[in-house]
Amino acid sequence: MSVLDLARPEIRAMQPYSSARMEASGGEVLLNANESAWAPVGDDGLGCNRYPEPQPAALVEALATLYGVRREQLLVGRGSDEAIDLLVRAFCRAGRDAVLIQPPTFGMYAVCARVQDAGIVEVPLAADATLDVDAVLAALTPAVKLVFVCTPNNPTGQPVPRTELERLVQALAGRALLVVDEAYVEFADEGSVADLIDRYDNLAVLRTLSKAWALAGVRIGSLLASAGVIALLRRIMAPYPLPLPSVDAALLALSGWGQANAREHLAVVRAERTRMCEALRWLRNVREVLPSQANFLAVRFDDAAGAYQRLLAAGIVVRDVRRYLNLGDALRITIGTPAENERVLAVLQETSP
Ligand SMILES: *Cc1c(COP(=O)(O)O)cnc(C)c1O
Repeated sequence: MSVLDLARPEIRAMQPYSSARMEASGGEVLLNANESAWAPVGDDGLGCNRYPEPQPAALVEALATLYGVRREQLLVGRGSDEAIDLLVRAFCRAGRDAVLIQPPTFGMYAVCARVQDAGIVEVPLAADATLDVDAVLAALTPAVKLVFVCTPNNPTGQPVPRTELERLVQALAGRALLVVDEAYVEFADEGSVADLIDRYDNLAVLRTLSKAWALAGVRIGSLLASAGVIALLRRIMAPYPLPLPSVDAALLALSGWGQANAREHLAVVRAERTRMCEALRWLRNVREVLPSQANFLAVRFDDAAGAYQRLLAAGIVVRDVRRYLNLGDALRITIGTPAENERVLAVLQETSP
């Protein structure tokens, strides 16, 4: 059985939109897409009067090399948020199918499921915030088409061991697509599971340039999956998802110069994460700092609301995650520059009686 048998049959059957750029490329005089013949002011050779390539070849090539997959195993879109949405729409029939998530986790899986009117099966993380694979398998119903696993998890920061992910993808074969969200994997000790895509066609991996690559404002994310899943999602994706200036910025970030810059900042974040984790643990108001492999720390306070307000009064905005399951006393603090982190500590020390 192919993983495509789990997808919505009407999506597999439909005739996708065929854009001008898909039907013909090359040529010198382009009169097929009703574009302007003149570049806009300040265009600087970018050619923004023309529609962009649906999947820009140079960017796909650079990302496939970076992530160690073949080009046909990669879909590039507007952040990994777009891929989450496309997956839910391609695999979940409204009112019938479902996704499985493990709260507390990233909110977009549930939001996309609700927009599609898909069900949401929740299997809470264990008390120590680790994933319980057996509990996931026990909760699986025939309606579940997608199982989302975030590793390291947002907002708790723990990774899921590769052996557990492999056990899960094997058990889900023929039943559901496992979607491993690796938005923070660059910050973690353990690497990506993208190399397993060749072995399991029911595995998909989400990667993004929004975090370690410092391009949240550029909106570029990737889905790595079997060529069949990628081709299926392209049928329902917007015809020209990627703005030319974004593609340009991403290519620069992925150049040798850009990669050296990103690596430098990654090392700072990892060192600061260790330092902040230790320093926060000593504060009297802090109950616990969850061990994190991401670029943030989930911190439990005696008075989380008070800590949030005092940080805010000092001009520091952190994420209040108290509404998440089992995080009723927690704030999520992103690792900033060393000077920014120092300011966080100064405010929390001052107010730790
Ligand atoms: C930030 C984040 C993303 C990335 O979203 P983009 O749309 O690529 O910016 C994806 N998943 C998780 C868990 C995140 O925290």
